[in-house]
Amino acid sequence: MSTSKVQIALVLPDLLGTYGDFGNAVVLEKRMTWRGISAEIVNIRFGEPVPESCDIYVVGGGEDTAQTLAVRHLREHPGMQRAAARGAVILGVCAGIQIFGESFTRADQVTHAGLGLIDSTSHAGGSRAIGEVIATPADGLFEGLLTGFENHQGRTVLGPSARPLAHVKVGTGNDGSVEGAVQGRILCTYLHGPVLPRNPQIADLLIEWATGIKPGPLDLPDVTRLRAERAKAAGVPL
Ligand code: GLN
Repeated sequence: MSTSKVQIALVLPDLLGTYGDFGNAVVLEKRMTWRGISAEIVNIRFGEPVPESCDIYVVGGGEDTAQTLAVRHLREHPGMQRAAARGAVILGVCAGIQIFGESFTRADQVTHAGLGLIDSTSHAGGSRAIGEVIATPADGLFEGLLTGFENHQGRTVLGPSARPLAHVKVGTGNDGSVEGAVQGRILCTYLHGPVLPRNPQIADLLIEWATGIKPGPLDLPDVTRLRAERAKAAGVPL
């Protein structure tokens, strides 16, 4: 780790932060501090340089225009990509998965280069995918079901270097079949909710990657209730 405090970069929350995606950074910080691991959130706003020294980078969702501004900014300030090259942990949500890929083609059919962090391409589908999602873990990557809320027009195709995060049971995810992507220590998903409050097992996986320590269990009845409620809403009781 870079310092004694685990630094969580909240990247461009003013552009990419639909559905309270900033909550993913809060969950990471809380789940570490509750276990005695010192952690802090570093806000990186549009127009500001992106430090390469953080331990975890969190990128949220946004509209096509916002994500185009974001990808330009991140190319001009390549701190996150440099951090990725040394194995920093990165979470990308929705627009995040699209801008991390090789390219994305927006709903207006204009194609933009992505950051090339994961082996994927995205293009606008014929309709928006909106609603609750339930997915099962791919390759035993995490425990339990993945739950979340999606709202996107983009569809994502993974290349051989990226593997899916999960297999879709309800909803669309990347393409109606698989959901999200994992490549090295970069984990991407289409799911809001935000995704980490609804899936603390993914938060703990990212914490383990960042600290090298498998975090012990945390008993949070409200989280268990929330997961059960949202799974029921999607028609798949946990
Ligand atoms: N603009 C992208 C799409 O519609 C991402 C949407 C999002 O991040 N919620 O596909």
